[in-house]
Amino acid sequence: MVAIGIDVGGTSVRAGVVDASGGLLDTARTATPRSEAALEEAVAGVVAELRARHDVDVVGLAVAGFVGHDRRTVIFAPHLPWRDADVADRIARRVALPVTLEHDANAATFAEYRFGAARGCRVGAFVALGTGIGAGLLLNGELFRGAHGVAPELGHLCLVPGGRTCPCGKAGCWERYCSGTALAATAVELLATRPGRSTVLAREAASNPDAVTGRRVAAAPVTAIRWHGWRWPIWPAGSARG
Ligand SMILES: [Zn+2]
Repeated sequence: MVAIGIDVGGTSVRAGVVDASGGLLDTARTATPRSEAALEEAVAGVVAELRARHDVDVVGLAVAGFVGHDRRTVIFAPHLPWRDADVADRIARRVALPVTLEHDANAATFAEYRFGAARGCRVGAFVALGTGIGAGLLLNGELFRGAHGVAPELGHLCLVPGGRTCPCGKAGCWERYCSGTALAATAVELLATRPGRSTVLAREAASNPDAVTGRRVAAAPVTAIRWHGWRWPIWPAGSARG
């Protein structure tokens, strides 16, 4: 059995041809269009590109959004145009192959269970730190989906009551404090409490805080930060001490 797995994200559509032992045979990618029809065309396009080079049996879509219990429908995806859309059937009609959907963090959790760090485990948690926090829970060898099929969304657990507002509508969510976006927000907040600082990052944060990114903060030559009275030593990514 050879499958095409496609990560449909807000920025790009990234596809890979995978064999039964989890080996990656080939890849293709394209930018994510803004309209439903164009997005479905783009997904069908990467499938056609890869099928020209490989015999493929099935297609799996990993979507950054809420996927229905039957794994045929995208209920809501904040950065994609699909709303209550029968995406699996639409793509299946275009590519003439069986298609199934999965929440992107759930797909990554199951991949780690089958082929990666969680192989042989019965219980595990997967946490992806990026723009936000994507998370999956593995309980007794099965993905935990909750009552509505969209669990666990651990990134939106309340970590700080009354804390930073979150695009989900709540406040103090875990991903507002521990993600690439949160790293930048924390740096801007801390630098604002020390207005005399003359570092490049401090000047950037003062003049255009929106331009400060998590990647930019991680690359800055900072050795320690103070937060809530604690001194936290940190080193740039990739350094020997990090
Ligand atoms: Zn939230």
